Amino acid sequence: MEIAIIGGGIGGLTTALMLHRAGMACRIYESVDELRELGVGINLLPHAVRELIELGLLEELREIAVETAELCYFNKLGQLIWREPRGLDAGYLWPQFSAHRGQLQGLLLRAVQSRLGAECLHTGHHLQDYENTGDGRVRLHFINRRTGARMASADADCVIAADGIHSRARAIHYPDEGMPIWNGAILWRGVTESDQFLGGRSMFMAGHQDQKFVCYPISANHYRRGRSYTNWIAELRYEPKTLASREDWNRPGELADFLPQFESWKFDWLDIPRMIRSAAAIYEFPMVDRDPVASWVFGKLALVGDAAHPMYPIGSNGASQGILDAACITRMLQEHSDPQEAFAAYDAERRPKTAAIVLANRGNGPEQVMQLAEQRAPAGFTDIEQVIPAAELREIADRYKQIAGFDKDTLNQSGR
Ligand SMILES: Cc1cc2nc3c(=O)[nH]c(=O)nc-3n(C[C@H](O)[C@H](O)[C@H](O)COP(=O)(O)OP(=O)(O)OC[C@H]3O[C@@H](n4cnc5c(N)ncnc54)[C@H](O)[C@@H]3O)c2cc1C
Repeated sequence: MEIAIIGGGIGGLTTALMLHRAGMACRIYESVDELRELGVGINLLPHAVRELIELGLLEELREIAVETAELCYFNKLGQLIWREPRGLDAGYLWPQFSAHRGQLQGLLLRAVQSRLGAECLHTGHHLQDYENTGDGRVRLHFINRRTGARMASADADCVIAADGIHSRARAIHYPDEGMPIWNGAILWRGVTESDQFLGGRSMFMAGHQDQKFVCYPISANHYRRGRSYTNWIAELRYEPKTLASREDWNRPGELADFLPQFESWKFDWLDIPRMIRSAAAIYEFPMVDRDPVASWVFGKLALVGDAAHPMYPIGSNGASQGILDAACITRMLQEHSDPQEAFAAYDAERRPKTAAIVLANRGNGPEQVMQLAEQRAPAGFTDIEQVIPAAELREIADRYKQIAGFDKDTLNQSGR
């Protein structure tokens, strides 16, 4: 069986590595002419890290990524609301990693090239359309998106589309869906080399749902040198309106659009305006997702990753869920000789779980504790227990872990 993968992002590359390990032949068709190490911070939760470890990538991950030790929530005055250990520090059998998205993609790409051979990746191939052939296979039609040139078509036995939030494969089957849905928040994302903060391997969020700052170190190299290569996200929410133009992960952002609102956020443990001002690069991105759909499977084509379940970047789930999709669809293709049956089983297992995360993230996921603190104590507090009792905080944190599939006890005890 030969499988075509559309898209060479985190989801597509991971799928290729997993199919290869399972002994299945595949080719990747990627829209851009050259895969460059783009993006800023991204997180991998323990259940996704487990899958990458099974691919033999732990040492490579440790070379680039920071093992996240804790997650902390603060109010807009820098007062601690909730702190919980993460990854190995929390007793998981697998670490949680924070990494540079481009470096993670580069790591996966090198593994694909060395294991499957460089010729399995066809760049400059933007999926335009596909059709079922008379002999039960699928024919894929491509253009080069930069030049507009039509590329040679390719046949495969089935197709796994990992072509991201603007998936062409999804648009073919949901032609009326249109642009992603914006919730009115803009995220300015940047990276800054800084001193280490909190424990050096801490991820934190401060503020509330209308104004928030997220921060975490993403470079193992800097960490080893006692420094922090810090990914940060400054978020402001506006009245919902229609996005003027399609979002783009690489769109540059302007300091003047958001720095003034964070100017007073100088905590005794971190100077946030200084962190923002010292950034090497700033990008602007709207908080967008899409409604869950009724099916990800259309005969011999299945969607994975952001093509299947684009979600707000809340709770560290974007890449993690794509990796879990890759693992599930590979397992189903091993268990079912008919790819259509395998895809149906994959859809049944993964679609409801990820739809629940998309919806939980619309309610701020685990970050709702910051909104509760803002509503109940807008001027700050001396004792968080008087504002949100520890049992309520724990309940919110535990509930989200269950929805997102990384409840520690269940995960540690699960075979597969
Ligand atoms: C350039 C870029 C930068 C990003 N930066 C961040 C970041 O800083 N932080 C973060 O949390 N998330 C970031 N993301 C999103 C993040 O990678 C995903 O949410 C997550 O990893 C799921 O990955 P995915 O493979 O499903 O989608 P993506 O990582 O978006 O990959 C999709 C791939 O498909 C390709 N593609 C698209 N359309 C077609 C087509 N028609 N035919 C062939 N190929 C196609 C794209 O070029 C891309 O390589 C970024 C995505 C991109 C593309």
